[in-house]
Amino acid sequence: MGTRAARAGQPCPVSLQAVLGAVCPCSPVQDADTPLLPLQIYPDPELEAQVLSLAIRCIHSEEGCRWSGLIKHLQAHLGTCSFNVIPCPNRCSAKLSRRDLPDHIQHGCPKRRVKCEFCASDFTGEAFEGHQGTCPQESVYCENKCGARMMRRLLSQHALSECPKRTQPCTYCSKEFVFDTIQNHQYQCPRYPVPCPNQCGTPSIAREDVTTHLKESCNTAMLLCPFKEAGCKHRCPKLAMGRHLEESTKTHLGMVCALVSRQRQEILELRRELEELSVSSEGTLIWKIADYARKLQESKARSNYEFFSPPFYTHKYGYKLQVSAFLNGNGSGESSHLSVYIRVLPGEYDNLLEWPFSYRVTFSLLDQSDPSLSKPQHITETFHPDPNWKNFQKPPAIRSSLDESTLGFGYPKFISHEDIRKRNYVRDNAIYIKASVEIPQKILA
Ligand SMILES: [Zn+2]
Ligand SMILES: [Zn+2]
Ligand SMILES: [Zn+2]
Ligand SMILES: [Zn+2]
Ligand SMILES: [Zn+2]
Ligand SMILES: [Zn+2]
Ligand SMILES: [Zn+2]
Repeated sequence: MGTRAARAGQPCPVSLQAVLGAVCPCSPVQDADTPLLPLQIYPDPELEAQVLSLAIRCIHSEEGCRWSGLIKHLQAHLGTCSFNVIPCPNRCSAKLSRRDLPDHIQHGCPKRRVKCEFCASDFTGEAFEGHQGTCPQESVYCENKCGARMMRRLLSQHALSECPKRTQPCTYCSKEFVFDTIQNHQYQCPRYPVPCPNQCGTPSIAREDVTTHLKESCNTAMLLCPFKEAGCKHRCPKLAMGRHLEESTKTHLGMVCALVSRQRQEILELRRELEELSVSSEGTLIWKIADYARKLQESKARSNYEFFSPPFYTHKYGYKLQVSAFLNGNGSGESSHLSVYIRVLPGEYDNLLEWPFSYRVTFSLLDQSDPSLSKPQHITETFHPDPNWKNFQKPPAIRSSLDESTLGFGYPKFISHEDIRKRNYVRDNAIYIKASVEIPQKILA
């Protein structure tokens, strides 16, 4: 119907745009190629009266409004149409259909007035959202789940000092506990102060320190005399110890003296064992006599001047032997030869060995010539001990290793003073005497 009023080139007589707030139903835009220019619009009262008397449905009919009537009554209807969109009367900037307005004003409008049910204060909707959940007058449960319920403003005080489920550090050990278990804890707290169980007068000792206190610092503690290492068995309370020390000076001194002497004995014993341990047990001795020229001189000045080698064992758990040398000779070699002897010393294992000592002994004076220049020519002598000679019998255990009265067995004319200057028997003012003992394999095994 309305569209019929629009003919090509003939503009709409009614400015329906103004009435409807929408596109005029007779707008020529739909039919014509060119849009209508404002100059082409002019009033036509007659046509206007006709159009306004046409019947029409509400512009919100598609949303559900059932109203229909004359165009001229449309404006009045829209003033009450529940589908018509209007701005919120609270000026909150929202625009909604009239039928959604009550709910908006009641609940959604940020500019609505709200009264808090707990504190009865007035708020705008906006401010109330912030207030909700924080109202100091609202009754709430304690967050520690202790079961208490109170106004929110009392909550922090409750949590701080009243709530039985609050955590609190133990005054003594500083560990955190739930308040209602702290008392139980303090029955066991290691730092809880207790008095000395021996009533020494110390009023508060941390529970875990009581044992140490009783042992070390309690006046009633029983102490051992500090001379206990020396053998004093006295035991008395700490307080009485001073008197014991004063009274027992002489006794203590005696004990210390005895201790020193015991220890000296022990040191001697250890030294002897150590010496024994350092004795070679490989059956071969290589004995360096250093400072040869001076020692020879010394031997010439004092007749029968004998040098002794370190002792050595013929094998492990074997015979203990010692080599000796007269640099200026003795007996038939005196003043002309180097004499070399071997003797049996009292050894650790003598009682386990066969006597007399009967194994082959070899002596050598080592040629120190460089083997790469010429083959060394050692001076060597070998002998089988004479079983009838008394010094190859088992030596008496108490004999000293340096007892010069015991004769060795050997060679007074081992090498002459002339020969010893040949080759390199003396080199860098030192000679080497080697002694070795041949022990049969069956004895070693
Ligand atoms: Zn309507
Ligand atoms: Zn609003
Ligand atoms: Zn409130
Ligand atoms: Zn609580
Ligand atoms: Zn504690
Ligand atoms: Zn005490
Ligand atoms: Zn004592």
